[in-house]
Amino acid sequence: MKKSIITLSLAAVLGFGSITVGMPIEKASAANKLNDLNSQKEKINQQRSGVESKLNDTDKKISENQGEQQSVQSEIERLDKAISDALAKIEEKNQEIADTKKEIEKLEAEIEILVERIKKRNELLKDRARNYQETGGMVSYIDVLMGAQSFGDFVERVGAVATIVEADQDILKAHQADKDELEKKQNQVKEELASLEKMRAELEGMKKSLNAQKAEKDKLLASLKHEEEEMHAHKLELAEENEILAAQEAALQKAIKLEQERQAEAARQAELARQKAAAEAAKKSSSSAGSSSSSDSGSSSSPQVSAPSVSSGAWTRPAAGRLSSGFGSRSLGEHFGVDIAAGGTVPIVAAADGVVIRSYYSSSYGNAIFIAHSVGGQTYTTVYAHMRSRSVGSGQTVSKGQQIGIMGNTGQSYGQHLHFELHRGSWNAGKTNAINPIGIVPL
Ligand SMILES: [Zn+2]
Repeated sequence: MKKSIITLSLAAVLGFGSITVGMPIEKASAANKLNDLNSQKEKINQQRSGVESKLNDTDKKISENQGEQQSVQSEIERLDKAISDALAKIEEKNQEIADTKKEIEKLEAEIEILVERIKKRNELLKDRARNYQETGGMVSYIDVLMGAQSFGDFVERVGAVATIVEADQDILKAHQADKDELEKKQNQVKEELASLEKMRAELEGMKKSLNAQKAEKDKLLASLKHEEEEMHAHKLELAEENEILAAQEAALQKAIKLEQERQAEAARQAELARQKAAAEAAKKSSSSAGSSSSSDSGSSSSPQVSAPSVSSGAWTRPAAGRLSSGFGSRSLGEHFGVDIAAGGTVPIVAAADGVVIRSYYSSSYGNAIFIAHSVGGQTYTTVYAHMRSRSVGSGQTVSKGQQIGIMGNTGQSYGQHLHFELHRGSWNAGKTNAINPIGIVPL
């Protein structure tokens, strides 16, 4: 809506300019000035859509990065689960191994008891056999046999002796069998233990590899996060750039409006002067009307709104102080402005008439003000940085020499100074329009 009105009125002004080829030069140049403002606005529009698409690209990259982070995160979750599974299994195996070891110990104790028992029994049997020989025990056996009253009785007695011997032998055999059984069982359990220990070793290996995989994923996630942070920072820079461009567009629209009003007022004044001159010419009826008209308009004491001309008079020094750093390359890199340093409370003033594009705090510029100017048909942008305070707001109209703030040391600044930039045309992030103010602005 607003835009269409401006376009219409611009068209009217332009149309007026083009049909008045034979009219005074000021009118044609005024039309050119509006033309220039309009083309500046177009350029800013293009830059803005460039920034807009960069912002979109960055947003896309951020969401891609976030998607990647999510998949890495779920990989990490999967690995975490696998690791805790492995740990649980290892714990289980540890328990089984401990149980098996206890069983082996128990079996060993049982075997030891049996071995001891067999040993004692053997000794007992040996002692008994020795006793038979030494004390005539064997004789007693023979006596027992010899004492038989009949053959039947003898057989019975032999059987009894054999039974006693056999019983001893059976006990020994049983003991031996028990011992063999226990040893067999012990071997089985030992095999079981070996297999458990092998499984545990495998699980430990698996855990180690899972941990290594997880460490790698953690590293990847950290690098993705770092990348995302950088993209956010880049986005912030683009957003700041976009805001300045948007504000610049608004300031230029305002400058166009002011220029239209100034032209209308100038036309009104010119008409008044022409009428006055015509009346005077009729009264005096002297020399040519044309020359009297021009001399009258020059000597008139009424408030004349003169078009800004390309002259040193259009600019003024923005602050008092010494020039501490010039324009161009220096050790810290390209310097896109000049520095004016002074101590105490130093007022900063607008270097020319204009419209405040932006008045804000920037992490690099500190308290900063951007002003759009239209001088002699050329647009300029001035930047005032590191201020202690700002006294004008965005969109405000300022006049040459009007105080806009106080010199300071805010943002990326080392010592109180004013960092002053002059751009021919509009400001852009690459600062490709920055020019040396010396020779234009009296410094
Ligand atoms: Zn500087």
